[in-house]
Amino acid sequence: MKLSIRTLGDPVLREPAKLVTEFDRRLRALHDDMLETMYAAPGVGLAGPQVGISLRLFVFDDGETGPRVMVNPRLEAGAGELREEEGCLSIPGPYHETPRYESITCRGQDLDGRPIELSGVGLLARIFQHETDHLDGLLFIDRLDDEGRRSVLAELRRIELGLEDPSQKRRLLRRTDG
Ligand SMILES: [Zn+2]
Repeated sequence: MKLSIRTLGDPVLREPAKLVTEFDRRLRALHDDMLETMYAAPGVGLAGPQVGISLRLFVFDDGETGPRVMVNPRLEAGAGELREEEGCLSIPGPYHETPRYESITCRGQDLDGRPIELSGVGLLARIFQHETDHLDGLLFIDRLDDEGRRSVLAELRRIELGLEDPSQKRRLLRRTDG
């Protein structure tokens, strides 16, 4: 079932999400719905709070990993810095160069509660950081300087007012939406 994606202004996006403690059928169903929602968007990552569920999990697919899930993620050993265009399904339309670690390790659990560890470079590292931020109530605009944040919010406003059509840009850059 496709879920509705919460957008900027929805308070659930600003709440720290709770640890997942029940690895049951409901979690699996939520995971299935989140993957369906992410692919339909389309996006490369989707975190619980983005569909109104304040739980610490996200799904992702950077185009190479295939559909994956990370429950209760923790980031470690971030290294390097990469500034690339980043977008967010919860701030639909604008993209902005956003500084992130170039490589990072993400430890967490699978749907059965078993430990998993994945190392990401480039886009995958960016997804791990973007989605883990969502679980802490942070958005990519919080990682920008004042000017960057202002420009994203101004573009969002122009799109909402119908003064700008994001579709062309979205087609080019959609692989960075998370
Ligand atoms: Zn996002």
